[in-house]
Amino acid sequence: MHFHIVTLFPESFSSYLGTSILSRALEKKKIKVFYYNPRDFTADKHRRVDHRPYGGGPGMVLEAEAVIKAIAKAKGRRKKVKIIFFSPTGGLFTNTYAENLVKKYTHVIFVCGRYEGVDARVKKVFPMDDISIGPYILTGGELAALVIMDTTTRRIPGVIGTYESLEEERIASSDVYTRPEILFYKGKKYKVPKVLLSGHHKNIDVWRAKREK
Ligand code: SAH
Repeated sequence: MHFHIVTLFPESFSSYLGTSILSRALEKKKIKVFYYNPRDFTADKHRRVDHRPYGGGPGMVLEAEAVIKAIAKAKGRRKKVKIIFFSPTGGLFTNTYAENLVKKYTHVIFVCGRYEGVDARVKKVFPMDDISIGPYILTGGELAALVIMDTTTRRIPGVIGTYESLEEERIASSDVYTRPEILFYKGKKYKVPKVLLSGHHKNIDVWRAKREK
């Protein structure tokens, strides 16, 4: 998958994308990430892209034109591209949405807002999904883009060790244990549930199913 990110802060992505499974996915070219900074697309000689909102109110708004040009650059001549506009009032991002992205799209564009958001006319120029990652307000869409990239990347075949690691393919529990069998901490013992040490796969599945989210 190719992720195209329209953001004022491309540098905010590097530490997370440079770590663990996402870093390996980049190395193996399972994913590619491209950045488009609206500042590079503004006519303003000071590269300023935020202005006061019409109608008054606090904060600043990202201007439409620079964002539209950045999206146009990311889109190129491609026809089949999913464009995602981040907003706290958008539709809630889910596993099902991620699965659909992986199955149907190679190119995804994320439009990351900042401050009070992006001029709403951007959504009139390009058809796009309005997506929220949860019922809270972030300072920008960058974390939302990382959340979607993380969730979708682990669903691309060949990215995580075994396909069975995907929750949907097995009975997954939110309570997991590893060595040692008995943990001693401040005079107390903490044991691994007996059933997990039993080797009895049917009973283990039953136990896990009870703890499934
Ligand atoms: N007053 C604005 C707040 C903007 S927050 C409003 O109600 O829309 C700044 C930017 O952060 C948004 O434009 C959006 O891109 C991003 N953002 C904030 N909360 C988010 C959430 N829950 N999910 C996805 N993006 C979010």
